[in-house]
Amino acid sequence: MSGIYIHIPFCERKCIYCDFYSVENLNLIDRFTESLLKEIEIFSIETDFFNDSIFDTIYFGGGTPSLLEPAQIAKILNELSQRFKISSNAEITLETNPGTVDKRKLLEFKNLGVNRISFGVQSFFDDDLKFLGRIHTSEDAFKCINDSFDVGFENVSIDLIFGLPGQTVEKWLENLKFAVSLNVSHISAYNLIVERGTPLHELVSLGKVEIPEDEIQAQLYEKTIDFLENAGYVHYEVSNYAFDGFECRHNLKYWQYENYIGFGPSAHSFWINKRWWNYANLNKYINAIDLGKIPVANFEILDEEKMIEEFIYLGLRSKGINVARFKEKFGFEFVDGDIKDEIKEFERAGYISINGDFIKLTPKGFLLCDEIVLRLISKIKFVMKWES
Ligand code: SF4
Repeated sequence: MSGIYIHIPFCERKCIYCDFYSVENLNLIDRFTESLLKEIEIFSIETDFFNDSIFDTIYFGGGTPSLLEPAQIAKILNELSQRFKISSNAEITLETNPGTVDKRKLLEFKNLGVNRISFGVQSFFDDDLKFLGRIHTSEDAFKCINDSFDVGFENVSIDLIFGLPGQTVEKWLENLKFAVSLNVSHISAYNLIVERGTPLHELVSLGKVEIPEDEIQAQLYEKTIDFLENAGYVHYEVSNYAFDGFECRHNLKYWQYENYIGFGPSAHSFWINKRWWNYANLNKYINAIDLGKIPVANFEILDEEKMIEEFIYLGLRSKGINVARFKEKFGFEFVDGDIKDEIKEFERAGYISINGDFIKLTPKGFLLCDEIVLRLISKIKFVMKWES
């Protein structure tokens, strides 16, 4: 099964830490929607590699997809169902910003078939929200989460950010307590990353804002895992926690190396061994489509070595390396040769666990994720070179 990603490139205001592609000119929403529909049409006419595939996830990300009217989301879903084989029980996610939806809009999204709603809450404290440049208040967040349950959503996710300047463990745990008290089925808890080119990067460079030391970040991360696991959430990816059965099926496709197609400016696609991405520029995107072209900015073909690296990296970040799938995809055993001893050593030290076909990181292992990935990749490379 494959996935479809739709990038909606609009935000009412840019948050200081964000480097996702979006623009603040909301007057372009209608024009963009028409182009997006056309992109889906052109793509489906000019390519056919996906014809035999069934798509069981659709993910509206951004930007702020909830800035679109339900009628516009309806048109997009309709176009997708005309052009692709969409599974009848597809997971359909809509990223939503508190402050951009009311109960009526949420109900309309639900009636269209959206069955997973993901709120960019980031913090339940207004001083944090103000610092981050969010457009909403904590009250907005509580209200829209409760509204989403009221209108019948069962699969409700929230994003939170830790590692804010001056944030104490106690304050962060308060955020998690609020999340748990709301009984949301899925929580993404990211640490604040200072991305180049963002206003936050400038503030940090000028010494006006200080980001907590790595040691504190690690402490906040460990507390998050402990707290959410004790509250009944499964830690199924580095930054993601869900009640059993509520893992984000779409994001799992990225981490389990499955195929997906992306539409909209800056959207990425991946199919077997090819990755391509659209213009991260709304004007270029619209112009290409006006000329009847697929708005692809560039692509890369992945060789086997690169694919193995990504398979290991993405697998370990989430549910684990699926060794049966590894063999099916690459034609040789993952646990073979030199890597066997390395895996045993990590297992003995409590960094990884082996469960059926999956080799996965333990909570302690997640803290050293990058290092473990590099060591496994170096051993796999050794095996590959030795065999060739
Ligand atoms: S609302 Fe989301 S996508 Fe838009 S600027 Fe803020 S973090 Fe980025």
